[in-house]
Amino acid sequence: MVISKSPTVKDLVSLNILPQDPLISKAELVQLDRVQFGSQLSGPRLHTKDSVAVAQADANGNYLLEIGSPQFDQVNTHGIVAGTLATYEHYMGHTVPWSFKGPLEVNPHAGEGKTAYYSRWDQSINFFQWDSPSLGKTVKTSQSFDVGSHEIGHALLDGLRPGLLSGTESKAFHEGFGDSSAILHALQYDTNLQQILVDNGGDFSKPSLVTRLAEEFGTAFNKEDDNPKNDNNPYYRTALNEFKYADPKTLPSDSYPPSQPEEVLTSEPHSFSRIWSGSFYSMLGSLYNQCAGDAPSQLDALRQARDVLGSIWGKSLDHIPAANLKFRHAASAMLREANQLEGGKYFDSLAAVMLDRNLLTQQQIDDLHKPVRAFELEQFPQTRAGAVDILGRLGLDDRDWQADQALAGADGRRVYTFRAPERVELDLGSRGPAFMQAEAGLTLVFDAQGKLVSETVTPLSADDRADLNREARAVAESGQLVGADGFGPARLVPRREGPPEYQPLPIWKD
Ligand SMILES: [Zn+2]
Repeated sequence: MVISKSPTVKDLVSLNILPQDPLISKAELVQLDRVQFGSQLSGPRLHTKDSVAVAQADANGNYLLEIGSPQFDQVNTHGIVAGTLATYEHYMGHTVPWSFKGPLEVNPHAGEGKTAYYSRWDQSINFFQWDSPSLGKTVKTSQSFDVGSHEIGHALLDGLRPGLLSGTESKAFHEGFGDSSAILHALQYDTNLQQILVDNGGDFSKPSLVTRLAEEFGTAFNKEDDNPKNDNNPYYRTALNEFKYADPKTLPSDSYPPSQPEEVLTSEPHSFSRIWSGSFYSMLGSLYNQCAGDAPSQLDALRQARDVLGSIWGKSLDHIPAANLKFRHAASAMLREANQLEGGKYFDSLAAVMLDRNLLTQQQIDDLHKPVRAFELEQFPQTRAGAVDILGRLGLDDRDWQADQALAGADGRRVYTFRAPERVELDLGSRGPAFMQAEAGLTLVFDAQGKLVSETVTPLSADDRADLNREARAVAESGQLVGADGFGPARLVPRREGPPEYQPLPIWKD
């Protein structure tokens, strides 16, 4: 894989990495942006850290190691993370920031366990491993292409929208984004594309390498957990599903890892995320079927479908909410971009998936063709106060909007996001009353000439407040609340006056 069209790439480094889990792939040569690697897996964006010596580049500046040493794991993880970053920057057409200053620390050997996580607090992604009795080997998440691509997906989305910390759908979108990132990144490798077509024969309703997420991790995990029914599932999650969007309050709740069988959709974010990852994979299949009509070969059709999906997905991220995201916002954002690409020729293929999955109604799809209200900026604001000034002119100054992000968007666009705090009273059951500082979100996108392209406001409804309360109560009652320096989804902070504050933490586990 060479992501040569990425706007920032000037010089390439060669390295050996595994383009899928080691159970089903062999290491192959990849070329990526040299600046992300330096002479010892360190650059301005990524920095690998380990308790053993970190791999050094050879005399030509390359990292051509064979599997079997901790240094290979380091190069592999660093390469997967850099490759996912490059994939997004290629399709988005610009760099993606982290939600913090400085490089992201990559810890390929973070300890023993069947897990991996991204933490904004520690500015790191962390990969664990365990001695698997069922596979008779050490299963290392640092060797898993899908786990690495998923975890860096959390970091990328957190950089674009740091306000997606709470609410069932925001949290589930984070997980779905991670799995979608693993799918899109896997599609960058020709060896993977060829194997997908061997697996499914061009029929995307069949399973393949790209529907099976975290093959080695899942194969071992499933054999070793308490559930005998999943013992032969060769994945941790599958993107091949028919789940339709449903209001999470109508679904059963569950713990994580799931106690429910995989065919049961629950409101637990990893489970609920499968609506999004399943839809994302269905979009690939729908686009493939359209492209296969004209392409000279199945491989060409798959490459074309990949790039259409990647372009639309990458650009759509400009529009997504700053807080309180729902799947329908992400679906609308994708159709908005589909409408702009090549005269809208892929719109119907994607709209069919959005309808089938209940992500959007026909009315909502039709409304996307309506023009956005006419509004033009003479110049882009340079300060946070300047960004807030736009809101008065748009009649959007009804809340205490705080300027959040000012980002470069696709095609010279500018993206401004805002968040407005809203106090939500909580009943944590046996843990008593509490409150949380939730947020409404606002995203404005302007084209290179300053013309308003989209506005997405996501206020908190009564339903959203109830959802936040359900989520907080489930965390509290399952004993997952952590102390001030602990690790977990949320903590309770005592307040001098009134009930304690429930704070979701910026840590995404698995
Ligand atoms: Zn995750």
